[in-house]
Amino acid sequence: MLILPEFALLRPKTVAEAVAAARGAQGRFDYLAGGTDLLCNYKWGINTNPTVISLRHVAEMNRRDGNRLGGGLTLAQIERDADFLEAFPAFRGVLRHLASPLIRETGTLAGNILLDTRCIWLNQTEFARKALGNCLKADGPECRVVKGSLDRCYANYSGDMAPAFMVLGASVRLAGPDGERSVPMTSFFEIDGIRRNVKTREEVLVSVDLPSDARDVRASYQKFRVRDAWDFAEVAVAVGVRFDGDRIAELRLVGNAVASIPVWLPDVAATFTGRTLDDATIDAIGDAVTAAVSPVRATWLPPSYRKQMAGVMVRRALREIRDGAAVPVGA
Ligand SMILES: Cc1cc2nc3c(=O)[nH]c(=O)nc-3n(C[C@H](O)[C@H](O)[C@H](O)COP(=O)(O)OP(=O)(O)OC[C@H]3O[C@@H](n4cnc5c(N)ncnc54)[C@H](O)[C@@H]3O)c2cc1C
Ligand code: SF4
Repeated sequence: MLILPEFALLRPKTVAEAVAAARGAQGRFDYLAGGTDLLCNYKWGINTNPTVISLRHVAEMNRRDGNRLGGGLTLAQIERDADFLEAFPAFRGVLRHLASPLIRETGTLAGNILLDTRCIWLNQTEFARKALGNCLKADGPECRVVKGSLDRCYANYSGDMAPAFMVLGASVRLAGPDGERSVPMTSFFEIDGIRRNVKTREEVLVSVDLPSDARDVRASYQKFRVRDAWDFAEVAVAVGVRFDGDRIAELRLVGNAVASIPVWLPDVAATFTGRTLDDATIDAIGDAVTAAVSPVRATWLPPSYRKQMAGVMVRRALREIRDGAAVPVGA
């Protein structure tokens, strides 16, 4: 059995108190939300800080105000929010296939967006990691997945919420020692499995904000994983379309679980503006996404298979958006 190491647990009641506690810990801390990801990493010795700052008692983060969703909302609270799901039905599909019901009861929105990247090399017990030799993300000399990479980690991002928010035009609101700022979700992530995103260590992810025109985007999230009970995605896509009559006024595409960030593909999407969403266009968009993504061997399934499946997932998403019904698996 893996034992949780000892640490000091702080319980601030406001965002300001949380940031002050982080300052006091001088970089040797982690924020804690539901703990479904973080505490596993403590047990595995991947995180080893002496102070943990719980955000569960920060009231302003635990509610939704219109299009502003508090970072502390649990995934199950969002799943039970009928008004939100009616406005943004794509999240029904996202949440139904995200982890397991038990994990969704505890895991939060912010924790999901900030989910650490994962890699078949690193995400093992300390015993196994030491036997095989450490890698860049664990103070080793080089990446073990992409041989010769001395400065970049290729671990996989597989959080399911961020890509869906990306195609709806959402931003994240961060609060830190220098005040508040809002960052579009499309520029929040940074292409490195260690650095992961632009949030500074002491900043709290307070909320996710959707723009007022987000309801005009028809969206779909499609995910492929080995065990449907709770596995992380091996490949997934988020697709959003704004229509002008039967033509594509704007297409938004994200490839997920194919890199260390959700991959936003504006250039690929722009080439389809003005086209009708017929079968030929759907196939062409699927092929373009397959060509654009380049997964590496950081998950269980071979990269070449995941690359092909990205296109298949895009076709399913677009047919769901066009026809208004879920596409059966295998179609
Ligand atoms: C068996 C299993 C299967 C899973 N399957 C999936 C899956 O299919 N899809 C998927 O998306 N996820 C999956 N997960 C991950 C799970 O959904 C996430 O762990 C959960 O959403 C994280 O939320 P949390 O509140 O528990 O975060 P925590 O574990 O508490 O924190 C995660 C990270 O976010 C930081 N953090 C949390 N909140 C804040 C904040 N407000 N401000 C600043 N930093 C913060 C923490 O410091 C930590 O680095 C799975 C997890 C498990 C254990
Ligand atoms: S991708 Fe490379 S550096 Fe990153 S966790 Fe895996 S082996 Fe380590």
